[in-house]
Order: sequence, then structure tokens, then C-alpha cells
Amino acid sequence: KPASKMGSEAITDNQQLHAFLFPVMAQGHMIPTVDIARLFAARGLKSTIICTPLNATSISKTTERDRSSGLDINVQTIPFPAAEVGLPQGIESMDKVTSTEMIPKFLSAIALLQQPFEQLLEEHRPDFVIAGMFLPWTTESAAKFGIPRICFHGTSFFSHSVMESLELYKPYEAISVDADPDSSFVIPGLPDKIEMTMSQLPDHLRGKNVFADMMEKTRESEINSYGVLVNSFYELEPAYAEHYRNTLGRKTWHIGPVSLRNTNAIDKAQRGKKSTIDEHYVLNWLNSKEQNSVLYVSFGSVSRVSNNQLLELAMGLENSGYSFIWVVRQIKTDDEESFLPKDFEERIEGTGLIIRDWAPQVLILDHPAVGGFMTHCGWNSILEGICAGVPMITWPMFAEQFYNEKFVTQVIKTGVPLGAKEYSMWIDAKNVSLVKKETIAMVVSQLMGDGEEAKEMQQRAKEIGEMTKMSVEEGGSSYADLTTLIEEMKVYTKK
Ligand code: UDP
Repeated sequence: KPASKMGSEAITDNQQLHAFLFPVMAQGHMIPTVDIARLFAARGLKSTIICTPLNATSISKTTERDRSSGLDINVQTIPFPAAEVGLPQGIESMDKVTSTEMIPKFLSAIALLQQPFEQLLEEHRPDFVIAGMFLPWTTESAAKFGIPRICFHGTSFFSHSVMESLELYKPYEAISVDADPDSSFVIPGLPDKIEMTMSQLPDHLRGKNVFADMMEKTRESEINSYGVLVNSFYELEPAYAEHYRNTLGRKTWHIGPVSLRNTNAIDKAQRGKKSTIDEHYVLNWLNSKEQNSVLYVSFGSVSRVSNNQLLELAMGLENSGYSFIWVVRQIKTDDEESFLPKDFEERIEGTGLIIRDWAPQVLILDHPAVGGFMTHCGWNSILEGICAGVPMITWPMFAEQFYNEKFVTQVIKTGVPLGAKEYSMWIDAKNVSLVKKETIAMVVSQLMGDGEEAKEMQQRAKEIGEMTKMSVEEGGSSYADLTTLIEEMKVYTKK
């Protein structure tokens, strides 16, 4: 049924499947989960997103718009137990966590959501639950009510395969702790030969850190869950989709890129947090630029880069001579602001646009004037760059971002690495060695220029970008996998 025709009739259909979607409280999880909830609703399901009150405010505009067009999409809130764990009020998502001490508290707060979540399950009796990776106990909670839980990590088949390979074979254990941090090893058993260095390995694999237990629980709950939902599409990574499904034996459905659910400017502008810049201003700015001439620079929703590094980046971008839009996060105090030379913004006027804190990313990336993307390699960002058909400069920092970099630069070959060497949790990035302005300017020119290699990369990115649209349209691979999942849930619940 076309979405526009699904009015109250769909809402009262007692054969209607009801999905609960419970994202990890981080922008990189909530944003795609809302897209997924909308995708289900557009197929006639009832979708209910579970989140905390502050997070609900950034979701509600989108869900209200969908509801007014007849979709059965809802939000249920659970209070965030900040006081119980000793966190200040207002810190309800990862992007608000600003010190290492807050992390274990934040994780404890998430764990306290189990009981209220089970109450919601009892009241609403949904047919299935899609829950984020850091909510491992949802597998058990759903099982209490005989409901299947499907995991959502928000990453690719490639990264899932790398993580599993590192877990199974622990290739890094063969390298002595005193070895050169640049010593590399091959990740065993993958379809391609992929190497990484010790210093790119996540902290939790190199020794216990605050995420080590969580990652273990996450993996265990994934194995015990009904399956894994993947925000990717088959044609992007066929060898890894096969590997993850057949060699590693995981039950999965790929339904992405889910960001393509946002088809118009309002959808794109209101996705995620409230933008700190007027979207018309950005669009006008971009309209004044030539096609493929602007580099978009953004490092996602949580990463914090040291002031020294920001300064190198500012100089590198200016010296490259290319136009750019740069999203600089969390600049609040005068002290933090001081990384920029006083007259920097005047100097770059016309060529560079700085956006503080939050930009309408997909709206920008999809503009024809944008010809490149410097990214921290969060999977959502990578996939959004892929959809926009732009080549990338990869600057991974933490989480599975180093794996994503390898995917972009070595598997699909639509990006140039900036040469980031060290994994570092987003909060203590100060200790990471600087990427110098000369390197930044050189790599930007390499990507945005018209050299042979750049042209090939631009062409490849464009071709893959076109494939994304087909995958989510009727008849495409992601559309079909979403149908398979829905049909399977109907059989499971006998609806
Ligand atoms: N995002 C955005 N505006 C910003 C920064 C981020 O819209 O200024 C969105 C971005 O489009 C993506 C998500 O936030 O959908 C970030 O997810 P990603 O996986 O790229 O990185 P993370 O924030 O999880 O590190």
C-alpha cells in the first residue's frame, strides 16, 4: 500500500505487526533507528520508538510529520535515571558525555532502563523488538514475553566480519606488548587481505577498559538474539554479506541505506538534533558554488578533537585553497574557541563556512556543489557519503572507524586515508599525534583535484551512489530483505 493511503484503517488492523525500536542513546544509533521505524511504518506496520524524554524532543518533529501523513509511528518515553547514577540532569545521550568519569555512569544508567522497558513490553506486547548493541539485556527481556529481539549495531557487514574475526582468532595476541605500535597483522579469514596495526586496535581489545565487559555482553546477546539488522545493501559488500551470513552463520537482513528514507529537504534538515544554522543559508551558500567544488568536513556526533589539531585542520583547509564547510563541535567557552586565529573567519569568508556543533549533514552532502567528504568514518556518515556519490578523506578515531576506513579505501576504493594512526576514545583525543596542516592540504588537493586517480575515485563513488537508490526501491535488494523480515515476523507471530 502506498504510504499516503494508510490512514486510521491501518491503525485499527488487528493483523498489523507491531515493532518496538529501542536505540542506544547516541545520535549515531538514534538517527538510523528513527529511519528504520519510518521504513516499517511505511510498510503498514506499527512502529514504536523507545527513548528518554530529552531524546524524544529531537525525534518528535519527524514522527509527527509521518503520523500526519497517516503512518502509525509512535514514541514511548522512559525517564533517564541521571540522579540514580550521579550524572547531572540533561545528559541523556553519548554526545553529552564530556569526561571519562561519566562513561561508566552513563552505562549504568542505560542498564537501569531494563525494568521500565519490561513494563512497556508487558503493556504493549509488541511482536518483535529491534534494540541497539549496548542494550544487551533486551534479548533476555524480550524472551520473557516470548518476543524475538533483533540486534542493531549500526555498522556494515565488513565491520561485523572484522570484529568477529578479531574475537575468534585474536591475531593481535601474537604481537608482543612492547612491539612497535606500528607493527601490523592480517585480520584472518576475510574475503580480502586486510591488515591493521596494533595502535589502531580498539582499547577494549588491548586491555580492560570501561567498554570491555559491555562488548562481551553485546556479542553474547547478539549470538542469542533472533538476528542482526544491518544498515547496508548487498551490492555494496556482497563478499562480506555472504561471509557474515554463511561463513560466520549469522542471521541477518540488510535494509539500507536507511538515510534514503529522507527524501525531501524537510526530512533531511530535521534529521537528528536541531541544526545550529539555518538550512536556507547553507543551501544558498552551496548554490553559489560550482558543482563538486566543496569539501564537507565533519567528525560525527561525539568525537572531540584537541585544539592543536583543530588549528592544524583550519590551516590545512585554508592552505588547500578549496572551498569547504566545516562542522566544529562543542565550542563553548572562550578558551575552547581560541584555537582559531582571530581573523581566520574573515580570511576564509566566501571560501569556507564554519558550522558550530550540528549541521544538516544529509542535506549538505546531497547538494551537487559538494564534491568530497572528510569524515571520521562513523558508519552512518560513510553510508551517507556513499549515497551522495562523493569520494572521501578518511580520518578514523575510535569505535569501528578504523575498519570502516579500510573498507572505503581498500575494498570499495572511494577514499584517501589521511594517515590517522592511533585509536583513541573520543574523550582523550589529546594524546593522539597530530595530523599536520601540510598533510591535510595535500590530501584535500589530491581528493578534490582533477588528477587521474581523483577522477577515477569520483567516478566510482558516483556509480556506487546510483546503486544505493536502486537497492531501496521496489525490486531492489534492501527492499526485498525488508519484505523477507516482515514476512518472517508474520509467520513467527502467526499474523
Ligand atoms: N550528524 C548530523 N550533523 C552533524 C553531525 C552528525 O546530521 O553535525 C549525523 C550524521 O548525518 C550521522 C550521525 O549524525 O547520521 C552520526 O553518526 P556516525 O555513525 O557517522 O558517527 P558517530 O556520531 O556515531 O560517531
